[in-house]
Amino acid sequence: MTNRITQTILIAFCIIALTASTGCRDGTAIFVTDAKFLFAQEGTVVVFPRCEHEWLDDAVDAVFLTDVHRNAVALARQSNAKLVIVSEAEKEFLLDPQGVFWNDYLVRGRFNEESLAPTNRPFAPFPSDVEIRGVRGGDVIEVGDVKFHVLETPGKGRNSISYYVDIDIKDFLAPEDLAEFEEHFDIKDWRIAFVGDLIHGDGKIANLFDLQDNFPEANIGPYHGFMARVPRLIASLEKIRAVKPTFLVSSRTAFIGCLHGGGIDEAIDTLIARLRAVYRNYLSTSALWWYFGEDRMNASATAILGEDFDPTQLDRMPKAKQFQNPDWLIGFSTTRMIISETGDAFVMDVSDDRVAERIINMHRNGEIKNVGGMFVTHYHHDHNAGVPKVSEFFSVPVYGTELVADILERPGAYRMPCLQNIVVPVVRKKDGETMQWNEFEFTFFDFPGQTLYHNALLVRRGDERPIFFIGDSFTPTGIDDYCAWNRNFLKKDKGYLYCLDKIRSIEPLPLLVNAHVDLPFEMDAERLDYIERALRERMELLADLLAVPEINFGLDHAWCRFDPFVAEFQPGEEITLKMVITNHFDESSEFRIELEWDKAFPFHITPSESVRELTVEPGRERSIEWTLTPKDGHAISEEVKIGFLSARVTSGDSLTGRSEAVMKMSSSGHIVINSPEF
Ligand SMILES: [Zn+2]
Repeated sequence: MTNRITQTILIAFCIIALTASTGCRDGTAIFVTDAKFLFAQEGTVVVFPRCEHEWLDDAVDAVFLTDVHRNAVALARQSNAKLVIVSEAEKEFLLDPQGVFWNDYLVRGRFNEESLAPTNRPFAPFPSDVEIRGVRGGDVIEVGDVKFHVLETPGKGRNSISYYVDIDIKDFLAPEDLAEFEEHFDIKDWRIAFVGDLIHGDGKIANLFDLQDNFPEANIGPYHGFMARVPRLIASLEKIRAVKPTFLVSSRTAFIGCLHGGGIDEAIDTLIARLRAVYRNYLSTSALWWYFGEDRMNASATAILGEDFDPTQLDRMPKAKQFQNPDWLIGFSTTRMIISETGDAFVMDVSDDRVAERIINMHRNGEIKNVGGMFVTHYHHDHNAGVPKVSEFFSVPVYGTELVADILERPGAYRMPCLQNIVVPVVRKKDGETMQWNEFEFTFFDFPGQTLYHNALLVRRGDERPIFFIGDSFTPTGIDDYCAWNRNFLKKDKGYLYCLDKIRSIEPLPLLVNAHVDLPFEMDAERLDYIERALRERMELLADLLAVPEINFGLDHAWCRFDPFVAEFQPGEEITLKMVITNHFDESSEFRIELEWDKAFPFHITPSESVRELTVEPGRERSIEWTLTPKDGHAISEEVKIGFLSARVTSGDSLTGRSEAVMKMSSSGHIVINSPEF
C-alpha cells in the first residue's frame, strides 16, 4: 500500500460523497450503513433513513449538535427531527432559552459585562414533542444501526462536543471499487469524527474571540483571558487524535485528513503550532506582564506553550523607562487631574461616585478652586461611572472625539464588554483638534488602542516634554490587547498600528500616562518599532490560523451588528433599527443581510425588507436602516414584552456572520417573554 494510492481512493470516495447534497443544503453527505445516511452541516449531523441509495428527506431520525448556536439550532428545527442530541451542559438552552440565558443576561449580564457570554443563542424552546437528549463524554447513542460515540471537546465553546461513528466500507463502495480498495487497504472500517468548530481546513479556527475565557491556570478572569481556552482546545484535539479517526468533518470543512493534503495528525499538529505561535507573539508585547506579574503570565504561557516553556527563551519587549509625574498632575484611582496655576482642575476619567465625591470634596476643602472641564478616555465602567456626577456638580462639559462620543451617549446601542449603562453627553472634538485651557494646550486624538472606541489627550505646557494621556492603551510592558472582544483590528492605519504612528508623529516624543499606571513612561523608537514588528508578524500568523477571508473578520465579533443591540419601545410605537457593517476587506464589498424572527416578534417585516444588500467601501463602516411598525400595539400594552431579531450576514461564499437585536417594551412591571415556535 502506498500513500499515493491511498489518497487517490480516499479522494475519489470523498468527491462522490461531497456531490451528494439536496436542493438548498450545503454540507457533507456520508452513507454510513445500508439503512442510514448522515448529512453534516454547520455543527449539526442529521441522520436520515436511506433506501436504494437515496435518503428520505422528510423522515429524519435524529439531529446531533456539537454546539448550541443559532445556525445549528435553526437547522435542527428545519429538519423536523423528533430527537435532538446535545451536550448535557447546554441542553437547557434548547428547553428554556429564556430561563437559562436571556432573562438573566438582559437583566444582569448585559452591562458591566466581563463574562463574554455568547449571545448567538436560541430565543425560543423546541416544541414539546421533540425529545432533547443531553449527553456526556463516553456516552454512545444508537440511531438504528449507527452508533454515535460522544467526546467532550471544549474549544469554540466551553461545552462543545464531538461525535464519532464507525462505518463499514463495504456498504457504499461498488464491488469493483471494493476489490481495488481491499488490494491497497488493510482496514475495513472507517471512523469519522464530527468535530463542529474544533478545527477547520489544514489546521485553522474560525476566530479568536471565541477563545476568550477564564484562565484558571494563571488565575486570570475572562475579560483578561486572551486565548484562555487554548489549553482545553489542545486537549480536545488530542482526544480526537487518540480515537484514531479516518477523517474529520468540521462545520466548515469536509474530510480533514483526506482532501486537504496531510493527514489528521498533521492538521492537529499544525493547529497547535499556529495557536502557540500566536500566543508567543502576544506574550512578547502584552501589557499584562505589568499588571499580573511574571508568575501568572508564565503560568499562562506554560498552559498554552507546553510544560517545556522556558521564560528565559521568550522574546519580550524591554520594559519602558518610567519618569516622575510633572508637578501639575495628580491622580487617584483611574482619575488624572491637571491642576492649573489658576487653581482650577481639568479632570480625566472618574471610576465611580465615591471618586466623584472625593473630587467634589477637594473643591470644598479648597484643594482645587473649580473643575474647568472633563475628558473620558473610553467607555469602560472603571473610567466613566463617576463622570456625570462631577460634570453636573461643576456644570462643565465632557470632551471627547467622535470615536467615543456615540458609545458614551448611547451605551444601550452597543454590545461590548465593561460597558456601563450610564449616559455621558460628550462635547465633540475633531481628531487632532487643539484647545487652550489656561496655560495648557490640549490636542484630542482618536486612539483605537485597548478598544476601538477610545481616544487620547495630548497635553503641552510651554516647552516641557508633552504628556499623552492614553487611557488603558499601553503599559511599560506593552499593549492592552488582552480582550479579544474589544475590537482590536490588525491592519495598516487601524488599531494599535494607528496608535503607534500617532505616538511617533508627536514631537518631541511624549511621555505616556496610563490611567492604571502611577508614573508616566516612555515608548521610545526602539519599543515602538518592537511592537510594530510583533504586530506585523502576528498578522501573518493569524492569516495562517484563522479560517476567514480577511483576518479582521476573525478578530471582530461586531463586524456586523444591530444598532441598537437592545431597543426599547413604547406600545404602538414604530422602531428604527440599523444593521452596521464594518468592511475589513481591501475592496469595496457587497454584504447580504437576511433577517430571521419568530412568530411572536412584535413588529411587521415585509418580505422585501427581510433580505437586503449593502455595499461598503474598504475599511469603512456603513449601515442600512429599517423602520418597523408594531403588529398590534393594544394587545401588548400591559406587560413588558420582548422580541428577538436575528440576522445572517454574508459576503460571497467566504464570509458569514450572525447578529441579534433585542426589542424590549418600556414599561414598569415584570418581563414576559414570548416563546412560541419559530
Ligand atoms: Zn481601565
